[in-house]
Amino acid sequence: MVDLVIPEDFCTNDVKPVGKTSHSDGENKHFIWGKGDPNGKAFSNEDVKAAYAEHGEKMVPLGIHGTTVAVDWDSCIAAGECFGVCPVQTFQWYRTEKDIPAADCMNATFEGTGLTEATERLDASDKSQPIREHDCTICMACQEICPQGAIRIEAANQEWHEKADGTYVKCHPVAADHTLTIKEIFSFFLFFNFTSTNFNHFFASLFAEVA
Ligand code: SF4
Repeated sequence: MVDLVIPEDFCTNDVKPVGKTSHSDGENKHFIWGKGDPNGKAFSNEDVKAAYAEHGEKMVPLGIHGTTVAVDWDSCIAAGECFGVCPVQTFQWYRTEKDIPAADCMNATFEGTGLTEATERLDASDKSQPIREHDCTICMACQEICPQGAIRIEAANQEWHEKADGTYVKCHPVAADHTLTIKEIFSFFLFFNFTSTNFNHFFASLFAEVA
């Protein structure tokens, strides 16, 4: 596997997304991170440059699309390997749904009707768009196969997706070494409506088992 171009902390802590691409289902979206890298691998790829020229479009930095399924669009050269291995069709070729400059995907809405086969890209200026990031099973196959190292899969980044989305709810797990307080023990018995009689039966049967 080649080295990943996306740094581990691209979306963590105080980093804010620069935009998003929404799914037309009204529920799902993937965020876009960073200002982009003008030295990304796509900028030096002859096929990509020729395709942009054919469209009459200027190549501009595009950033990282997705959070748990993060694709660096400045290094994506539309090789399509990720399409071939994904079991849930997370990706679509964005230009096969909307043939617009890649920069215009920022804050746009897509229906997810783009093509999903490896060979179905419009041309080398197309990009692997994680439109169904929410369906990813974290199998890691796309990260391992991408010849440019342009994909980073990280399930733990769901927290940063939710924080960007404003839907994050902090959990308070009970610590493994947490000791029940007297109040918690009595709350337990009250909750199950224990009477003094079955309280006695409970402990009698408990001690009988121990004995
Ligand atoms: S990790 Fe697996 S399921 Fe998720 S996008 Fe990549 S190939 Fe698809």
